[in-house]
Amino acid sequence: MEGQGYAGLTEPLLKSLGLTRKAQRLLHPELRPCNIARSMTAENNHYGSRLLHLRLPRVCVAIAGSDANEMLEKAEALARDNPFIELRLDYLPKPGLAPEKIREFTESHPHVAVIGTCRRLASGGKFRGPISSQLDLLGKVADAGCQLVDVEIQTAARMRSAQLDKLRGKAAVVLSFHDFRGTQKLDETLNKMTAFPADFYKIVSTATSLFDNVSMMKFLERHQDAHSLVGLCMGEQGIISRVLAARAGSAFTFGALSADEKTAPGQVTARELRSIYRIDQVDAATKVYGVAGDPIEHSLSPAIMNAALRRENVNGVFLALHAKSLKDLLACVKEIPIHGLAITMPHKQAILPHLDNTDPFTTKIGACNTIVRSADGKLYGFNTDTSGVVRPLEQRIGLQNAKILVLGAGGAARAAVFGLKDRGAQVFILNRHTEKGKKLARQAKARTMKRLDLKKLDFDVIINATSVGMGNTRESPLSADEIKAKYVFDMVYDPAETLLLKLAKERGCEVIAGSEMFVHQAARQFEIWTGKPAPREDMLKIVTQALAERAAARNGTKLISKAS
Ligand code: NAP
Repeated sequence: MEGQGYAGLTEPLLKSLGLTRKAQRLLHPELRPCNIARSMTAENNHYGSRLLHLRLPRVCVAIAGSDANEMLEKAEALARDNPFIELRLDYLPKPGLAPEKIREFTESHPHVAVIGTCRRLASGGKFRGPISSQLDLLGKVADAGCQLVDVEIQTAARMRSAQLDKLRGKAAVVLSFHDFRGTQKLDETLNKMTAFPADFYKIVSTATSLFDNVSMMKFLERHQDAHSLVGLCMGEQGIISRVLAARAGSAFTFGALSADEKTAPGQVTARELRSIYRIDQVDAATKVYGVAGDPIEHSLSPAIMNAALRRENVNGVFLALHAKSLKDLLACVKEIPIHGLAITMPHKQAILPHLDNTDPFTTKIGACNTIVRSADGKLYGFNTDTSGVVRPLEQRIGLQNAKILVLGAGGAARAAVFGLKDRGAQVFILNRHTEKGKKLARQAKARTMKRLDLKKLDFDVIINATSVGMGNTRESPLSADEIKAKYVFDMVYDPAETLLLKLAKERGCEVIAGSEMFVHQAARQFEIWTGKPAPREDMLKIVTQALAERAAARNGTKLISKAS
């Protein structure tokens, strides 16, 4: 039976297309390098790589290992679901032993496209040998079946042009440049790089702001017609470029094998890129959504929102944006057509003056957690924290005249107090800084109370809207004898069972966990952005599972997955 190349291209079909041998091999990995005429021109090569570019999967999985066997075992385990991998020879203590293993792998996995990379220490890799050894190794892995090899510009600058031509006769060359400090002079860098013939020009910078992603994507858009480019930003703030660069013109992007095996800062796992961000489906029509805050690393919003978008068949992707400053966030939002944005701490209040309009309730609360961009580019602000408090309570009790104590007077407390007053509840406020509590009470026509009086009073509901108890099970805003209520609702959602909820249960109260609020406010955001009902049950399952995994990780135990 004839072997099948990318997208089912057969060897005779490739020949019939009049392609060079090199181009055929690039599209058809079964045509092993040992059969290839070595006297190819750079033009032929480039032609081949353009075709390869059209056929390469979007995500290349970077693989390292403690030795060649382990690296290739990982490649073997990945090969079925990941037809594009990068083998990091520079991570191996004895990279010279790798080519034979690679040959066995490429011969038994003709459908897998492989990049051989042996980055030198001076260029940010781990290879300590001289350039001559690096080139020798790259030549050998190309002979062993790597269809692409990575050559840093620092190495190319010290090669003779005949050496580069010879290497390009064996494999497509990805000429690479890495900037581990920032994102700057991208055009100038490309200009320097194109002095060397290559099949792909790869520029990887570091995002020190969200706007660096914009610079990278604009750069890709400017040059994608003239060159085969790979571009992305490293670092936690580089997530936008990792997911969206393909649509801006990057031939592919890189993903880590697992969270523990990242070969670059800020790398996302290949599995996350595919299953959470659905990178293979991202196209020009994909709507971009996100959550912006500082810190943002532990936000559960991307997990639940991407699942909801997938479930409801919305062509959209949801990203976590680490917005260290509002100025950076606003500059980024202006340039990237973000359709909807969730705003979290510390920007909920400060963002208000920058919006074109807000609904009257959000203006009253003085905090916005949801932004929608209209077709004319205007930004509209809403507050869905209110729904997050009111909806779970309305499912349990009538709010008219209900006696409710709100602990706290920050942004979330304001959303709760105004929302509950609007439903006719009697609201009492208790805040650490009493003046702030009094001010909120005046604005919302609620009442304040003294902590000393707590033990004398019974409530229908006590709501914790302070950050006390967040991330630990030691602290509670109230002691056991201060908890006198039918329901205790903790806005803190991590840990899932806070000390307050534990004490409340012991006192015989019904409890409402912060995850319920989190899902309700996110569901409302989803409805505002997409006009579709949110799959709440699925969202709650994902949050519950994620919190249980975090708790298990904190306790050093392993959790058996129950997620569907
Ligand atoms: P915020 O605006 O910073 O307000 C923080 C509140 O906590 C203030 O009232 C503050 O009192 C009080 N506080 C902080 N440390 C305290 C302490 N040691 N003792 C007593 N009071 C203390 O924050 P926020 O946006 O309102 O958020 C408050 C909490 O709600 C956070 O834990 C947040 O994660 C949670 N939240 C959850 C959801 C959800 O979906 N589940 C949504 C929004 C918020 P002072 O005014 O006296 O400083």
